[in-house]
Amino acid sequence: MLAIETSCDETSVAVVRDGKHILANVVSSQIEVHRRFGGVVPEIASRKHVEIITLMIEQAVEESGISLNDIDAVAVTQGPGLVGALLVGIVAAKALAMALDVPLIGTHHIAGHIYANRLMQELTYPCMALVASGGHTELVLMEGEGKFRVIGQTRDDAVGEAYDKVARSLHLPYPGGPHIDRLAAEAVEAVPLPRAWLEADSFDFSFSGLKSAVLAVINQAKMKGQELDERALARGFQESVVEVLVEKAIRAVRQYGAKQLLLCGGVAANRGLREELADRCAKEGIELLVPPLRLCTDNAAMIGAAAHLKWERGQFTPLDMKAEPSFSLEAWSV
Ligand code: ATP
Ligand code: MG
Ligand code: FE
Repeated sequence: MLAIETSCDETSVAVVRDGKHILANVVSSQIEVHRRFGGVVPEIASRKHVEIITLMIEQAVEESGISLNDIDAVAVTQGPGLVGALLVGIVAAKALAMALDVPLIGTHHIAGHIYANRLMQELTYPCMALVASGGHTELVLMEGEGKFRVIGQTRDDAVGEAYDKVARSLHLPYPGGPHIDRLAAEAVEAVPLPRAWLEADSFDFSFSGLKSAVLAVINQAKMKGQELDERALARGFQESVVEVLVEKAIRAVRQYGAKQLLLCGGVAANRGLREELADRCAKEGIELLVPPLRLCTDNAAMIGAAAHLKWERGQFTPLDMKAEPSFSLEAWSV
């Protein structure tokens, strides 16, 4: 299977066998291009995808050691994502599927993030996924292979988005997540900040109040002419985020009798979150799966892993398919 991912600011093409063996997974990030704007500029993202997509396809095929004629199917991220960015991958995928006369499989980006774990080991159902990325914060229950049920999600900002906004207010470069993570690790103390637990039985998240609390601390220091302890602030922010994510994930695992907890998305790169989750899961006897960093951030191999679910069941996508900027994960279930 040849897989293409262009939903945001990474252009990626992979060749994956049986949904679990990576033969090639080439990723070109546009981060440097967008950095001076402090975030992803959609028009520029689309143009950069156009410039490089053909080259990436050639490179992935070459690295995989197979020939284009050996490709059985073409998978592509159909959504969610930036519509102009998605379209570049979709047009390339349609052209390839048509030229090679093989099925096309429109794939859900978040299903990809979750099934990145399948590239490492077998999944045992029911399992619970904690999706923590730039645009999503969700707890997803999978009662069987490819059956997605969103039991909780953010009501405002996604966790990665909150990281990036807090980083921006501390004048750190985009994307800010890794910088906050580093500052938090260097801190000797933590600024106390609120935790958004929401209703007692809720699996939803909220990060905008925490973000406002961080801004209030910054503004107060500015008004009083005091020096701001950025490390302590980063640590306080990270502790609040991590505590809520970990507590809710563990409670969800218990309540639904999940056999594994899968961490995924770009924020899975966060050291604080990885350590705390590993610690708690070890204590509670929960099996935790975390993909290596290169499979946590956007890449096409994870799209190939998810698309395999549809391939096995002969669920293909018509060649006139459209980009779905706000694609439903549950509706994409097999
Ligand atoms: P989505 O998958 O929801 O469409 P996306 O693909 O843009 O969004 P990812 O690429 O999965 O998101 O993740 C990017 C996010 O991960 C950014 O917000 C970035 O700041 C965050 N991130 C990366 N590394 C870390 C880290 N070490 N700590 C916290 N956040 C991090
Ligand atoms: Mg990205
Ligand atoms: Fe993503």
